Amino acid sequence: MRSGWARRRAVLAGTAVLAAGAIGAAIAIGGPGHGGDRTQDVKAAVKGGTAKNVIFLLGDGMGDSEITSARYYAYGAGGSLPGIDGLPLTGEATTWSLIEKPGDPLHGKPNYVPDSAATGTAWATGHKTSNGRISTTINDEVLPTILERAKHAGFATGNVSTAEITDATPAVLDSHVNDRGCQGPANMATCPQYAKPAGLGSIAEQTVQTGADVVLGGGRGRFEQTVTGGAFAGKTVVDQAKASGYAYVTDAAGLDGVPATVKDKVLGLFNAGNMTTEWTGLPAAHPASGPQVCDTAFRATTAPGEPSLEAMTTKAIAILDAKAKAKKGGKGFFLQVEGASIDKQDHAANPCGQIGETVEFDKAVQVARAYAATHKDTLVVVTADHAHTSQIVEEVDAGTPGVQSILTTVDGAPLYLNYATVAPGPTASQQHTGSEVRIAAQGPQAANVVGVIDETDENAILARALGLKK
Ligand code: MG
Ligand code: ZN
Repeated sequence: MRSGWARRRAVLAGTAVLAAGAIGAAIAIGGPGHGGDRTQDVKAAVKGGTAKNVIFLLGDGMGDSEITSARYYAYGAGGSLPGIDGLPLTGEATTWSLIEKPGDPLHGKPNYVPDSAATGTAWATGHKTSNGRISTTINDEVLPTILERAKHAGFATGNVSTAEITDATPAVLDSHVNDRGCQGPANMATCPQYAKPAGLGSIAEQTVQTGADVVLGGGRGRFEQTVTGGAFAGKTVVDQAKASGYAYVTDAAGLDGVPATVKDKVLGLFNAGNMTTEWTGLPAAHPASGPQVCDTAFRATTAPGEPSLEAMTTKAIAILDAKAKAKKGGKGFFLQVEGASIDKQDHAANPCGQIGETVEFDKAVQVARAYAATHKDTLVVVTADHAHTSQIVEEVDAGTPGVQSILTTVDGAPLYLNYATVAPGPTASQQHTGSEVRIAAQGPQAANVVGVIDETDENAILARALGLKK
């Protein structure tokens, strides 16, 4: 390709200077550019036993490519994502799901490219399922989830996402349904056996019924739908939540106003749909868009009433910590935090949206790690559900397939991102990919993420850390 050695050498020289400045500032014992003997640090990071608290954070669609491009763009080639890259123990997780074709020889065989419903079901329940299913098997059996089990054992529980809180990733913790689309009582056409009054209800209704202590995200539109059967028929799901012990807030100021010691459970729904992305910029195009620098103030200026993922995570931990202390039995809390729109912006081939969501997700990881720094009996696990389309490629030209964008990084160098899993077009949605994904952790049981594991193993790690009985 056209990228010459002289230019690369110039970039590398710049990198060396930056790396020297970066070391020691943010890096604990993980992260690139370390080089020292970490034997004792790694040994010290290996702890067995149980954890009082478990914080599980995932970036939806946050494959290695998405992590790398976010780091390069925002922190430079010699830099680190302060949250994710600082975790001491790292492995990789396979993500495959199952083919569901009853009566076909392929039924139950691996599907190498999964979706968020099947992958979330894997860590939530320890079982593989098919794409689209929410904590149910390919034979439509209901599977108990890690959040339900933790709640039953006396832990405080929380569920935070930048997507609709009824979207697949948060839904796998508190709901059971054959189709991820069944998010509200008016969305039950593909899952009639789950409709009220005979069934468990929509994901929104099941979210209220399962009753996690803190539920924060988007999806207000689903909860404003009218329940069609059962005790709350004729009321909205918001009414159902209020009648079930939830304080309800709809903007950042409302969330700020909730004290950590709130007696009620907390439902915060900050957008009718998915929450606004932190950054924006030119979508990828053919020929490539850019060179561009992203607008990093998009959410803050266009939707200041929506809290950031960092703010939601901070508040969720504060409330769960207080609720756990207020309960008898000395149990802590289980919290899942999802950076959802890394995936959604990857689908849309919007590199600035995708990178901004990854950087924001890393801020949520930093919040979790700051809590763990003063609460050492906390397991923090950070991973993704599946890999995605974006690739860091060589200099692009008219012959490059797909759509591209050229981003000018903090190094002052061009980063070429390419999206080429579907043919370009106005309604094209880029596809997930089947690569394994990074998993990193600190705290009790963290060593079990090392090596290559499967997403179903994550359920056993979380359950063991929480001391849950089978
Ligand atoms: Mg998701
Ligand atoms: Zn997706």
